[in-house]
Amino acid sequence: MITRISFDDLKDKVCVLTGGAGVIGSSLVRGLASAGVKTAIVDLNGEAAAGLAAEVAQEYGTAVIGVGASVLDKESLAVAKKIINDKLGKINFLINGAGGNSPAATTQLEEILPGNLTELEKTFYGLSMDGFQKVYDLNFKGTLLPTMVFTVDMLEAGKGGVLNISSMNAYKPLTKIPAYSAAKASINNFTEWLAVHLAKTGIRVNAIAPGFFLTNQNRFLLTDEKTGEATARGKKIIGSTPMGKYGEPDDLNGAMLYLLSDISSFVTGICIPVDGGYSAYGGV
Ligand code: NAD
Repeated sequence: MITRISFDDLKDKVCVLTGGAGVIGSSLVRGLASAGVKTAIVDLNGEAAAGLAAEVAQEYGTAVIGVGASVLDKESLAVAKKIINDKLGKINFLINGAGGNSPAATTQLEEILPGNLTELEKTFYGLSMDGFQKVYDLNFKGTLLPTMVFTVDMLEAGKGGVLNISSMNAYKPLTKIPAYSAAKASINNFTEWLAVHLAKTGIRVNAIAPGFFLTNQNRFLLTDEKTGEATARGKKIIGSTPMGKYGEPDDLNGAMLYLLSDISSFVTGICIPVDGGYSAYGGV
């Protein structure tokens, strides 16, 4: 029987946060530390991860470490796991935060108009397979591999939580970014698949789909580099977000803590949009 609802069960648990040195990750790591979760920031940029870890550990008085590793390299993740186990203990939670889009997997034109077949290199037909594969892999394989490596402790403990970071693209793809859209749709599908696969092990698997946040991966599409003004695409996004603004990374922390905590102990295989109403809006 519940006597008092709180996030106290999270205190002193160990969480791995991939891509944790990024814009959204930096906020999530503070949210975790504020709830007393011992956190390992696993990031390709080990230096940034270590710097952020030291800062957050001091701010909150909670253990936070930074570990350099690539979510695309299983060996480097296994090395990271050993370091995390030695420094923080067995892993209770994994947040798959590493991900993003790239100009190399972005079409220049939104659509092909009839009669305009002279600029095909700016469309789907001109996409570089290398760019496409890199973005797809970072987002999908970069979730798959850390999940294989970091959930083993949870399997042994008979309890744990995985949180994947999806996107609005999982519901309806945005123009120009087919690789990112396909990869994020696969994240939602995989979240459901793994939730079912692990349901009786005590490991819950859920996702958060952030709406639009101005960060490094999308700034080139949403603001004019020279003037800093919103691009037509940036204006469309704000116009399609009923709350009329971009989200702040801190807005994600409530959904994160809810999905990790025992408060949501009967919840698995879902994706919570945190989007200012974007996914609820039909455009009219
Ligand atoms: P970001 O670019 O600020 O951070 C990404 C982090 O991942 C960086 O610290 C980078 O070093 C790290 N990284 C990149 N490749 C890596 C690898 N191979 N191994 C380990 N780490 C690697 O991005 P962000 O905006 O903070 O995005 C975080 C997550 O949120 C991503 O999955 C992104 O797709 C998702 N997301 C972002 C938005 C948004 O509006 N910014 C919206 C929806 C979803």
